[in-house]
Amino acid sequence: MSKVLGVPQESVAQFLSGTKQMLINGEWVPSLSGKTYDSINPANGDVIAIIYEGDEADVDQAVRAARVAFNGPWSKTSPAERTKFLNKLADLLEQRVEEFAYLETLDGGNTITLTRYGFVPSAVAHLRYYAGWATKLTGQTIPLTSGGNFHAYTRREPLGVCGQITPWNYPLLGTVWKLAAPLAAGNTVILKPSQQTTLTTLLLGELIMEAGFPAGVVNIVTGSGRKIGEAITSHPDIDKIGFTGSTEVGKGIMRKSADTLKKITLELGGKSPNIIFADADLDKAIQGAFMGMFTNQGQICVAGTRLYVEKSVFQQVTEKLVEMAQKMKVGNPLDPATQMGPLISKEHLQSVKNYIEIAKKEGATVLIGGNVLQEGELAGGNYLEPTILTDLEENCTAVKEEIFGPVLCVMPFEQIEEVIERANETEYGLAAGVWTQNLTTAHKVIDALEAGTVWVNTYLKSDNGLPFGGHKHSGIGVEMGYQGIEAYTKTKSVLISLN
Ligand code: NAD
Repeated sequence: MSKVLGVPQESVAQFLSGTKQMLINGEWVPSLSGKTYDSINPANGDVIAIIYEGDEADVDQAVRAARVAFNGPWSKTSPAERTKFLNKLADLLEQRVEEFAYLETLDGGNTITLTRYGFVPSAVAHLRYYAGWATKLTGQTIPLTSGGNFHAYTRREPLGVCGQITPWNYPLLGTVWKLAAPLAAGNTVILKPSQQTTLTTLLLGELIMEAGFPAGVVNIVTGSGRKIGEAITSHPDIDKIGFTGSTEVGKGIMRKSADTLKKITLELGGKSPNIIFADADLDKAIQGAFMGMFTNQGQICVAGTRLYVEKSVFQQVTEKLVEMAQKMKVGNPLDPATQMGPLISKEHLQSVKNYIEIAKKEGATVLIGGNVLQEGELAGGNYLEPTILTDLEENCTAVKEEIFGPVLCVMPFEQIEEVIERANETEYGLAAGVWTQNLTTAHKVIDALEAGTVWVNTYLKSDNGLPFGGHKHSGIGVEMGYQGIEAYTKTKSVLISLN
């Protein structure tokens, strides 16, 4: 294995050798069936690891371990001890940022710049943020409206065992977002990473052991969504499902969770509008629109895929976007100069390509891109050119459906009321962007947009303290901030007679 980033990659090579096991009850174990699956490098199609594939029986073992840990050692830890565990995990992760970044890039094709300076350090910061919350959860004392001699108050208590299911697009950070808040609140956790990007979650499992978490507090089960995911969703002894993934699977999880009345948080898909008014700082807006679309190959739930540009500056904006796409370096994600790596899989590449073909049939003009790249070092990888489409009607498939790849739809508008209506004409409601120097325009649009996050004169910026979640078919509940940890607690009301 080559030396990248000046980091010795031998430790990663060693990690990847042998069949990767699951973490259940503080031990690394094979799947009970002995079945395995391959982990593929999307940059060249190589098998980089073999991983045990679990099923219902493995999930059941993990749930038992998590329940015992919840009723036992974890419920006896003080909030301050939970802070210490999470901070210890953050420290261990911080010491190995480059190793995690390298492995994540190898496994998911996210560029090394993004994993090294973005995803992995953000995971460290997120652990520390919720480490702080463990000691700050409080209830309230309630003055009774009916009076009387009572002492009434509320307590916030952990929910129990949480089944946490994550997608492939930023696997480590996605896992940590599903780990820190529930642990800080006193729950135990079963992590189910995507089959396509399992490795950094398993490496995190090693750090979880090193940090000294009691056995069963964090379990990692690996395998397909259909088997492992459904087993988690329908298991009678799991109290909450924290899910991030597609809207379709999210809806299925909601249906299945109903039988056992689980609490759910669903972070789902998006088709986010990004609106540039003519009075915006155009350089900034174009840069923001470009990055808001093509970061991580467009495989970001909040990607600003529907770009509405005021007609008077439409040509200027599209010309500049095309110029930027032309200059974008698509290539090996381990190369620090690369700006766009491969898509996650051959199937996904084909799905994105199909959307482009459908758009063409529906009358779209391809301003740039649209082709699969296979020459030279890109051979065997899932590379696609950054693609910009225009001449699109609002009901075109590419404008309506989540493509989850590097395909930007650019459309002109004339009136503020018109663009608001078109921006909201979607089943999704995850995020939106507005670029203007006019405060009145900004507030009018903020007020009218149906989205969980609205960015003004910026895009993609997120913060551990700021709640994040989707409206409409983009989700239920939020992560981050106080609300993100509150979602892993339940309220108990206490009424004491003082007579
Ligand atoms: P996906 O829904 O196919 O899979 C997500 C996870 O669910 C995976 O671990 C998968 O194995 C599991 N799963 C699949 N079928 C399941 C089932 N029947 N029961 C239980 N679990 C099941 O999504 P994906 O392709 O991995 O990720 C891309 C999607 O995730 C996009 O729609 C994207 O918008 C969304 N996403 C949303 C957010 C957000 O915060 N809103 C963030 C990242 C990604």
